[in-house]
Amino acid sequence: MDMQVSFLDRLFEAGLLIETGVDGLYGRSGQFEDVIAAFERLIDRTGGPDGAEAIRFPPGMNRAYFEASGYMKSFPQLAGTIHSFCGCELDHVSLLKCMEDGQDWTKGQEATDIVLTPAACYPLYPTIAKRGAVKAGGQLYDLQSYCFRHEPSKDPARQQLFRMREYVFMGPQDQVMAFRQRWMDRGTEMMRSVGLDVHIDVANDPFFGRAGRLLVNNQRDQNLKFELLIPITSVEKPTACMSFNYHQDQFGLKWGLHFESGEPVHTACVGFGLERIALALFHTHGLDVAEWPDDVRRVLWG
Ligand code: ATP
Ligand code: ZN
Ligand code: MG
Repeated sequence: MDMQVSFLDRLFEAGLLIETGVDGLYGRSGQFEDVIAAFERLIDRTGGPDGAEAIRFPPGMNRAYFEASGYMKSFPQLAGTIHSFCGCELDHVSLLKCMEDGQDWTKGQEATDIVLTPAACYPLYPTIAKRGAVKAGGQLYDLQSYCFRHEPSKDPARQQLFRMREYVFMGPQDQVMAFRQRWMDRGTEMMRSVGLDVHIDVANDPFFGRAGRLLVNNQRDQNLKFELLIPITSVEKPTACMSFNYHQDQFGLKWGLHFESGEPVHTACVGFGLERIALALFHTHGLDVAEWPDDVRRVLWG
């Protein structure tokens, strides 16, 4: 049995994660949630003075926005769509018959107007674009959402439904770059304050297929994505617990996000993987929170 399986099994045994029979789909205990809540308060204390506008979207987004985002071009392998039974009574009879016969009853499900949110910031851009021009000094948002990615795994740090806390800044290029750098520094400082061993490295998104390789190279060459890495299930391959993404004016152009002048805004988003941070804490300090070092407990719970 490899390390990954055993950490997951220990989390199940301790009751911190609760098995559902599906890899990457877990319940969380009150203790696990309490760690996430405490870390989110640390995020609030750190980012609060910036005065971001808080917005909470549910974990599903408008399918039309999802289509316009181009997600299916880049990450078709990760997407999750919501389908529903939309038939008449006769269709219902054949549906039940199909289920009874152990056949594929899902074929008759039809796509709804909702798609599962792949990253907390996806619903934000079209929403803000509808409000009109962006202020000259830029605009800052605070988001949190459950996100879905179809990437079943035995690695407890790779879940299919997990939470992402994000700050998104849209504005002039220099301020967007400064925003991203500020959070790389703050992120490193925050993780150290709770006793986590971190480093930051350039990264790329898992763009699909042969065309995707070009996008990967471009993203790395231009330093568009950085990740804050913490060893959880492996020391050689530490886990990304935060990511820092600079989109240039790509989203400004795509969504029609512009200044009064008509010039497209630049954007960046900074994401905290909340389950991953909790798992890093449990992995580093042990599965019993009462045994965590006093200074770590003080930072989290005062
Ligand atoms: P990875 O390289 O590990 O797949 P990612 O590059 O896909 O991560 P992002 O798309 O930047 O991650 O998502 C933002 C944050 O959400 C990540 O830094 C990570 O902390 C968290 N995250 C991403 N995918 C998962 C997942 N499957 N389970 C739990 N947390 C995740
Ligand atoms: Zn984002
Ligand atoms: Mg990924």
